[in-house]
Amino acid sequence: MVLKAWFRYRQAFQKLSSGRRFNNPFFSVRNLAFGGLSTVALGGLLYYHKRDSNIELSEDYFTKYQVTQNLRLDDEHTMLELKPLRPQSTNLWELMKSKKLWSVQIKQPEIMVVRNYTPLPLQKLEDGNFVALEEGDNAGGKFWLYLKKYKQGEVARWLSKLPEGHVIELRGPFIDFEFPHLPDHNTFQTPRESTQQSYTTVYDILACTAGTGIAPVMQLLLTAGDPRKVQLLHSCRSKSDLGPLYSFFNQLEHTGRLQFHLFESTAGRDIRQIQSEALKLIPMPSGNQRNIPARLEDKLHPSFALVCGPDPYITTVSGTKYDLSQGPVEGLLSQRGWSERNVYKLS
Ligand SMILES: Cc1cc2nc3c(=O)[nH]c(=O)nc-3n(C[C@H](O)[C@H](O)[C@H](O)COP(=O)(O)OP(=O)(O)OC[C@H]3O[C@@H](n4cnc5c(N)ncnc54)[C@H](O)[C@@H]3O)c2cc1C
Repeated sequence: MVLKAWFRYRQAFQKLSSGRRFNNPFFSVRNLAFGGLSTVALGGLLYYHKRDSNIELSEDYFTKYQVTQNLRLDDEHTMLELKPLRPQSTNLWELMKSKKLWSVQIKQPEIMVVRNYTPLPLQKLEDGNFVALEEGDNAGGKFWLYLKKYKQGEVARWLSKLPEGHVIELRGPFIDFEFPHLPDHNTFQTPRESTQQSYTTVYDILACTAGTGIAPVMQLLLTAGDPRKVQLLHSCRSKSDLGPLYSFFNQLEHTGRLQFHLFESTAGRDIRQIQSEALKLIPMPSGNQRNIPARLEDKLHPSFALVCGPDPYITTVSGTKYDLSQGPVEGLLSQRGWSERNVYKLS
């Protein structure tokens, strides 16, 4: 109705010369006011249409999410639950199927910078326990983040302090890594190149992580429906850094999906100081692949290694990673026969 009136008004206005416009009753004060109001209403409609169309998470624009829970684990670590203001219809967990590791970018509005964070498919029950989302459930787009703040780090410090109810803006998903079709075909395809391929081959993964580098591996382990087994070597200051995430390691070990080794520096187990112990745990890369999901009793034989953590950790475990390139595989992994063909460094 408003649109029709506005177009009628505009057409009539354009047809008349300026002198005749004033004598024409169609351009009376009442009609002019109506035209003005219609224009404002139309602008409003367009604004709300644009605002509401930015509901589904996208790389191209920011979508509003609310902090629904802020769980402080210790002085440095926090877990945040984020819920979209409007429920998301796309189930990103199903879309990525844990073949892709993905993150979102959160905007710090005061300094206008964005940082990447890794969503985890978790929900907190009323009794305080955490469970992974079931297959097919996207919880309306709600997810959790595991955060570490650094003394000089603006964004993580700001995020960790956000109260429940605070609205923030984020965009994504950004695909940080896509597992190769075959473990030794480490060509790291772009997502578009790989959509045509079918993933029938299952191979085990060796994951070496430190600090919040655990987040992408937790994303992989917690995403429902993934058949791969993971051997995880995780380094942290203390296991309490992990908060409720720690309980999942036990559960996953019971299902046979995970073999977990913890290196706690406060317990004298800094991986840099006990390299010979770490070397004993790191297997040689295996040529094993299966065409069926692993069974509980199958032994773990990793044929692909993922290394996630701060740069000095990556250097110790797998050699220096340069900004735009992976760099050669050195460090502990190379001593056990791993190479550029089957290792990916994520930082
Ligand atoms: C794909 C991807 C996924 C990520 N997922 C997560 C996640 O799930 N949880 C999470 O907490 N972070 C994650 N990060 C890191 C995050 O994006 C930020 O880099 C981090 O929060 C620091 O940002 P900042 O603005 O607070 O600090 P910055 O301003 O970037 O850094 C300030 C100072 O903090 C210190 N610092 C920053 N990062 C590190 C580090 N990794 N190790 C040691 N010191 C550091 C350095 O002294 C640095 O000079 C991810 C990064 C990427 C690329």
